[in-house]
Amino acid sequence: MESSTRSEERGAPGGAGEGAAPRRRKRVVLLGATGSIGENTVRVLRAHGSELELVGVAAHSRTRALLEIAREFGVRHLAVFEERAAAELRAAGAGVLPAGAILHAPGVEGLESLALLPEADVVLVAVVGTAGLRPALAALGAGKDLALASKEILVLAGAHVLAAARRSGARILPVDSEHNAVFQCLQGQERREVRRVILTASGGAFRDWPEERLAEARVADALKHPNWAMGPKITVDSATLANKGLELIEAAVLFDLRPAQCAAIIHPQSIVHCLVEFCDGAMLAQLCPPSMTFPIQHALLYPARGGRGAEAGLSLDRVLGLEFRPADEGRFPMLRLAREAMERGGAAPAIYNAANEVAVAAFLAERLPFLGIARVTEATLAAMGAAPAAGLAEVLAADGEARARAERLVAGGGA
Ligand code: NAD
Ligand code: MG
Repeated sequence: MESSTRSEERGAPGGAGEGAAPRRRKRVVLLGATGSIGENTVRVLRAHGSELELVGVAAHSRTRALLEIAREFGVRHLAVFEERAAAELRAAGAGVLPAGAILHAPGVEGLESLALLPEADVVLVAVVGTAGLRPALAALGAGKDLALASKEILVLAGAHVLAAARRSGARILPVDSEHNAVFQCLQGQERREVRRVILTASGGAFRDWPEERLAEARVADALKHPNWAMGPKITVDSATLANKGLELIEAAVLFDLRPAQCAAIIHPQSIVHCLVEFCDGAMLAQLCPPSMTFPIQHALLYPARGGRGAEAGLSLDRVLGLEFRPADEGRFPMLRLAREAMERGGAAPAIYNAANEVAVAAFLAERLPFLGIARVTEATLAAMGAAPAAGLAEVLAADGEARARAERLVAGGGA
């Protein structure tokens, strides 16, 4: 994945000795600025103002929140995905934008043109779902580093995203905390000596619920994540462990691993984010508090660490207990389905992701019971799991068909 040291050449921060000319700040485009990752990125940008500069921001429709960010950081390029919200902003006139700022087109087009800004060094894609795929491919195609939070993109089209990075020599810097942790543990290691990558999972909102109660789990219950404050979709994915399922697939793509080399384990404290096991049986782990500012700042500043972090690290002044338990595929069928999709290959991971996305949206809208999420995903995979995925067009077609099938299953009572 890592292919060059271009970011040092471009002037990555840190290390400039006294009297040396100040290095240029790294210029960041942030897609999905108003969400949970967006908020944490803003905290990182505030803490690293002398190393990072925000040059472009995009959101779905929360224009007020987007404008606040743009004004705070003097951002010159904005995009709003939803047409009506973008039109309202345009109608409000140039006065509401920071001085000299430009509002780009709505839809994917605007996200893409932000990803292609000539001045951008790194594009952080933190758009929920797969709307960030084209902008991610555009950024890599233009040789810009991609800081990637949106795991769904790699599950949908991992091979294509990696190929785009290989062609231009740009880097994919994982922002998902477990993958960022693996990335850190793999620095200086021989890939062929990696036996297994083990991702930790908090166990989500239902970790300690008796299994028989899961049938009555409601939206408010699923949104009570024990350790992390995140957007609603990923919080539900944590409760079903689909989040870990998606992350296993993401890890296989990012680190070129076989399905059998990717495992998940329950770790209730969310302090150890991964374990990397090597051929000699030794394991490396990465530890930090459960806050996304840590992986975000690592990805944006990489290869530097940029002085003080956005927030304090772990305190070892008190007792710190770390507990690990096997993840039970019987209790969490979305984990089993992810493993099966990975083993099946082709478009199966994309189908898993698409069916899950539809089912989670239906659960959040109270159109599907909690256990219906796994039922809809399993039935969609059973109906079309062997679909091929030779080219991006085929994957996108499978994605579309899986969404339509999952919708029909939801409408028909959740499989
Ligand atoms: P969120 O729902 O809080 O925010 C999503 C953001 O994306 C918002 O800014 C929204 O305006 C924007 N957005 C949605 N659709 C868009 C579109 N079509 N065009 C432009 N912008 C759009 O979600 P989140 O929790 O921040 O998660 C974002 C991504 O990061 C997801 O893919 C998630 O899996 C991944 N991720 C999140 C966390 C976390 O801690 N929140 C951790 C790891 C990975
Ligand atoms: Mg994660």
